[in-house]
Amino acid sequence: MSENIIDPRREDFPIFECLGAAYLDSAATSQKPRCVIDAERDFYEKLNSNPLRGFYPLSLAATEAYENARKAVCRFIGAQSPKEIVFTNNATSAINLVAYSYGLENLTPCDRIVVSIAEHHSNMLPWQMVASKTGAELVYMKCGEHGEFSDEEIERCITPNTKLVAIAAVSNVTGAHAPLEKIISAAHSVGAVVMVDGAQSVPHLKTDVQSLDADFLAFSAHKMLGPMGVGVLYGKRRLLEEMPPFLTGGEMIESVTVKGAVYAELPHKFEAGTVNAAGAAALKAAIDYYDGVGIDNMERRELFLTKYAFDGLSAIPGVHIIGSDDHKNHTGILSFTVDGVHPHDISEILSSDGVCIRAGHHCAQPLLAHLGVHASARASLMYYNTTQEIDRFLESVSSIRRRMGYR
Ligand code: PMP
Repeated sequence: MSENIIDPRREDFPIFECLGAAYLDSAATSQKPRCVIDAERDFYEKLNSNPLRGFYPLSLAATEAYENARKAVCRFIGAQSPKEIVFTNNATSAINLVAYSYGLENLTPCDRIVVSIAEHHSNMLPWQMVASKTGAELVYMKCGEHGEFSDEEIERCITPNTKLVAIAAVSNVTGAHAPLEKIISAAHSVGAVVMVDGAQSVPHLKTDVQSLDADFLAFSAHKMLGPMGVGVLYGKRRLLEEMPPFLTGGEMIESVTVKGAVYAELPHKFEAGTVNAAGAAALKAAIDYYDGVGIDNMERRELFLTKYAFDGLSAIPGVHIIGSDDHKNHTGILSFTVDGVHPHDISEILSSDGVCIRAGHHCAQPLLAHLGVHASARASLMYYNTTQEIDRFLESVSSIRRRMGYR
């Protein structure tokens, strides 16, 4: 392998010791290195107590582990302060927090919400809900057949009455990168805020929220080598400070009387109830793992693997890749169709050959309808994949039409 491309440390991932199949479904959830699994177990074995509540050493240590995880996330995405990092359950709940707390509070029937047609349902349904409850107009920004957004489309959609723009940095169907700089600067020029869905970008591309100037960014730990059940909402401090709490209850208050409550400062105002401290500690271990390997090294390896898979898949007769002609605009995601074969059959045949991929609408039905595709198969790669796994995938895809009775 070229000297710029690192070899993956497969031995760091216990699942590969027992999984015979090639795992090409990391856009759904990534595999976890041992240090992440150990960190979650360590929390329960050594620190277990309710954080943020007790004044005894065990609880203080649990609190410290939880807040250290917040600091790690803050640094990883280049936020200004840990106060801008709110832990949630996943990206979906982070986006819903903004929809309920910012959207319902700030939007009116005079306002426009712009959502890209390429959104995962998690960054679309919350805005449909806000539009229907507030009377705000909901406008879909359409992409071209390669998943690209033109300047004209951005200009058509982002008008002076636009108050909020919701956009995924990377599509979970096409892997295409949205022109975030253009969209964010167009939104800011009319005073709108931007909710960036980073579920498919933060795990794969170096993120710096300050240079991006995103107002909100949501992502999930489980897609970035971390545990399930932990998500992150980044928000600019000024915005988060002005927003009312989403959920109310324990631990998000300064004081309570029978008449009402004074809410806690950021970020705890948004973290009602017992938090997932073990999960946060495991997310910190995942971030340490990224730091150890180097996200630039991971990016380079993922680009290499994407090109390898893209070139191989493009060469198979009857196969059509959805999205860009350029492998660089796929971020490890290759959605495809095979002439005459339903994507569920594709995934079953691949499964019988020991290859795990996803098939269906990928929680992005409006995008598939816009692209004129009913469903697709999707292979998605991460730094730990190997060319041998991709070879197995390509060999299986090459045989599909023959096995389905086509010549
Ligand atoms: N947005 C995108 C682009 C996604 O790919 C996903 C997960 N498939 C989500 C949001 C939702 O993530 P989660 O299920 O972890 O909340």
